[in-house]
Amino acid sequence: MKEIRTRFAPSPTGYIHIGNVRSAIYPYLIAKQAGGVFYLRIEDTDQARYVEGAEDLIMDTLKWLGLKWDEGVDVGGPYAPYRQTERKEIYHAWAQKLVDKGLAYADPYTAEEVEVFREKSMAEKKAFLYRDYRPENPPKWDGTQPLRFKVTNIKRWNWHDEVMGDLTAGPEALDDFILIKSDGLPTYNFAHIVDDAEMRSSHITRGVEYVSSTPKYLSLYEALEIEPPILVSLPHIMAPSGNKKLGKRDGAKSATEYRDEGYLPEAMLNFLVMLGWNDGTEQEIFTMEELVERFDVSRVQRSGAKFDEQRLIWMNGQWIRRLSLDELYERCEGFWSEAAMVADEEYRKKVLRLVQDRLKTLGDLRTMVDYFFVEPEVNLELIDGDKRLKKYERTHLVKMLEVVRSRLESVEFEADKLQEVLNELLVELDEKPANLFSLVRVSLSWAPFSPALNEMMEVLGREKVLERIDRTIEALE
Ligand code: GLU
Repeated sequence: MKEIRTRFAPSPTGYIHIGNVRSAIYPYLIAKQAGGVFYLRIEDTDQARYVEGAEDLIMDTLKWLGLKWDEGVDVGGPYAPYRQTERKEIYHAWAQKLVDKGLAYADPYTAEEVEVFREKSMAEKKAFLYRDYRPENPPKWDGTQPLRFKVTNIKRWNWHDEVMGDLTAGPEALDDFILIKSDGLPTYNFAHIVDDAEMRSSHITRGVEYVSSTPKYLSLYEALEIEPPILVSLPHIMAPSGNKKLGKRDGAKSATEYRDEGYLPEAMLNFLVMLGWNDGTEQEIFTMEELVERFDVSRVQRSGAKFDEQRLIWMNGQWIRRLSLDELYERCEGFWSEAAMVADEEYRKKVLRLVQDRLKTLGDLRTMVDYFFVEPEVNLELIDGDKRLKKYERTHLVKMLEVVRSRLESVEFEADKLQEVLNELLVELDEKPANLFSLVRVSLSWAPFSPALNEMMEVLGREKVLERIDRTIEALE
């Protein structure tokens, strides 16, 4: 059986679009599942679109997600080099084969001449095709003119795509296309075919936008006597609103931006893999091991998959809760505020334990737990604007807090003990939990949300709790 070799072949043209990242995950899973090879090829032949640093960003993203490549630009491999600009001679050798067979010709035309052909076709009310204007005596190709493929197998093509099914396209989809540009570098259309053959790709996993060009590729495979790899076309990733492809304007960020905001790689991987795939059960949370075991190309959907950031946030929360406290603490490095960094590790861990169930991203730490580390500013709006607390006279609120304070002076600051006391206080003051507890909670945190009151008190400790109650009393008075 043929070895399973899949590839991720991005172009280093800027930040790596989140949709493109999915194009790395699927081939990774296909390879790992079969004990095959996943390799990284850099498609940098479009020099005009080349962006410095983009390659590093691609590699950082893959590493972050745990998509380790077995061969590639940096690690080498049996088919190195894996960067297309370093493979010029290889493309030229393959191009020469086509020239020798009479299946490629040097394109002698200027842009103006092509424009004339175009107008002629238009006047004749037919689609403009290069193959209608082939030069009778093309010059000998010397590597400086563009080299065009001379398509001869003009027919209806039928082919199978693992995701899109059986596809077909008529001869109108075929035309002579550029193989090598005037700068000597190959086009994507040519380079990827050569590379996938040389590098023994068993599958080509890429976006569905390449489907319309597939007849071109098939005619070139035939001309080069290459057996085409298995084609796997991935559905578009759609913007959250409207019926269009996800673009930078729809708020989709780069994978590294999500990382810097405190998304876990497990969540990101989980989210991306499910853009267009599920395992047929209700399961939504998958580990990498489960994905390697269960991923199945035949279950990839054909229609576009909506990029729902809310789902990503939800998944991130799920993954945060799955971590042990120590693991979570480690992942939080770099996400604490400066004030939090002054506190000791043990205190930070205690705080983390309280909010683990509420964190949506690690970035939440910067704001959500401030009051554990700095004295929060008293903001009476939170009392005056609270639907329960605004009913009380301020003097009454002060009285309630004074009673609470005096009880807290002597109790042991341990969550269970504190809860007992809080319950006793409810009886003593004849108050509803929602009212009394809100008052105390606000007095201690001055934040709209906080964890369970007794646990928060335990972590803050007696001194801070009493101090904060005093400050509230003072402000209310
Ligand atoms: N360089 C192409 C892109 O970034 C890759 C397509 C492919 O995987 O063949 O879209």
